[in-house]
Amino acid sequence: MHYHSSSRRACFGPAIEIRHRTGNDRAGSPYLHVSMKHSGCKTLAALLSPDSGHIMEEGGFVNWNRVLKIIAGLSAMLWAASVPVAAQGIPQPAPSRTARQSSVVDPTVAVRTEAAAWLADLIKINTSNPPGNEQPAATFISRLLQKEGIKAEVVDVAPGRSAVVARLRSSVVPEPSKALLLVAHLDTVPVDKSRWTVDPFGAVIKDGYMYGRGAIDDKGMLAANLAVFINLKRTNAHLNRDVIFLATADEEGSGDASIRTLIAKYWDKFAAGFAINEGGNVFVKKGKVQYIGVQASEKVAANIAVIARGTSGHASQPTKDNAVVHLAAAVAKIGTYTAPVHFTAIVRRYFEGIAPLEDDEISKWIRSMDTTDRGEHAQRVVSDASPLWNSMMRDTVAPTVLSAGVANNVIPAEARGNLNVRLLPGDPIGTVVNDLNKLVNDPAVKLEVQPNAGLAAPPSSLDSDFYNVICRVASREFGGAPALPFQSTWLTDSAQLRLHSVQAYGLVPFPLNDEDLRRMHGDDERIPLVAFDKGVDVLMKIVTEFAVTRY
Ligand SMILES: [Zn+2]
Repeated sequence: MHYHSSSRRACFGPAIEIRHRTGNDRAGSPYLHVSMKHSGCKTLAALLSPDSGHIMEEGGFVNWNRVLKIIAGLSAMLWAASVPVAAQGIPQPAPSRTARQSSVVDPTVAVRTEAAAWLADLIKINTSNPPGNEQPAATFISRLLQKEGIKAEVVDVAPGRSAVVARLRSSVVPEPSKALLLVAHLDTVPVDKSRWTVDPFGAVIKDGYMYGRGAIDDKGMLAANLAVFINLKRTNAHLNRDVIFLATADEEGSGDASIRTLIAKYWDKFAAGFAINEGGNVFVKKGKVQYIGVQASEKVAANIAVIARGTSGHASQPTKDNAVVHLAAAVAKIGTYTAPVHFTAIVRRYFEGIAPLEDDEISKWIRSMDTTDRGEHAQRVVSDASPLWNSMMRDTVAPTVLSAGVANNVIPAEARGNLNVRLLPGDPIGTVVNDLNKLVNDPAVKLEVQPNAGLAAPPSSLDSDFYNVICRVASREFGGAPALPFQSTWLTDSAQLRLHSVQAYGLVPFPLNDEDLRRMHGDDERIPLVAFDKGVDVLMKIVTEFAVTRY
């Protein structure tokens, strides 16, 4: 077992036990009638532990009613809690109540509670890509929205593959350049079930986490977007711009069913000036939010085939022009390649912002990266300290697939490898190909750029009102942690939006530590329930501040 049980105390001030006075189903009334009373202080782990009897029914099924009650209680406590976010000070404790007092839970708290159940439902719909098969998830969402009185459209992009679009209008005449798009993708990467300790499509709750493929990437954000969108509708929010909900398909495959096709065919349905999507993160270090990375740009992916050719023959009589040997030597040389450092404006600002947050030693090297005398050494130290930092400041090349041979006793005529290249936006692939050709220096080996290369998009503005709102609200809500512009090394749907003049920003609003972030495309993906709840709340505040008119 490698789970880390949360031993931090979730109890700050009086513990609250919430009892529903009315029946409540997952998609129930936004108003939950509750009574609260003091109870013994329990740890979060104890509250959510399967052995506590709080959430498990006989037979091992999760009792969702109980889970939702617990989450509602946690939402209230979260303001004062440091679990696992350790908001650095500001949140106010929920007002304590005496026994027999009852009240109406704030509808925005209620919708956050429901959002956790929607996340569980979405995890249970397997949308592993390939093949994706997003249609059932799209239908689930559209039904949910219809039930709220929101017209939702399921848009088919390919057989079995669909997206969902819905709109809350601010006025009769739409103004696409002002509209705000809430984006998330329906598909997930596949799973290797044998390496998971729980059912990847079971939405199992354990030690305060919800486990499941997509829990973070990207069904967490999908459920959060749904909660925000539905809450705007339920509260009859006075919008100053249209808010559009978009659930995309094939994000993980970037293939024919992806946002490219959606934009090409259906742009008018969701044309917007601003978007919030995945791509950036709320980074937790040593139990508290270190910084908020707001993605405003991303690297560009391309693939290069490495092809070695030789003479085929009988394996009993090896020759010097064996294609496998030439490929292996070429890939070994490519493995040593280090592209020159090139700071984009966003990355420069990112490093300026992160330097004071790191320990003295690394901070000193980060600040020295631009100096003439120690710059090169500093860049090496910083690159070695973090693969993320290394990839943020240069083009990278990673060999990913090798293939050769048809039988154990046959020397093949050809051996192939794939290099996955991540370019800084604006860097030409030709430079990398030239560098690699010089490095390999073998006439038996050819490099061929593959046709599916991505397009570099212009970065989103770091001066827009929306960027400022995201930074201001997130920083305030996460205890004053700084919000830094972020250029992701990974790809998102935002690049396509930016190519269509959308000011798109990436922020998965859940505070997550490295351990949880690492599981995103790996085994036992999970999201801490308190982080989910906090993230939904923060996203709601960001959208409200940007799109709702106050009186
Ligand atoms: Zn994703």
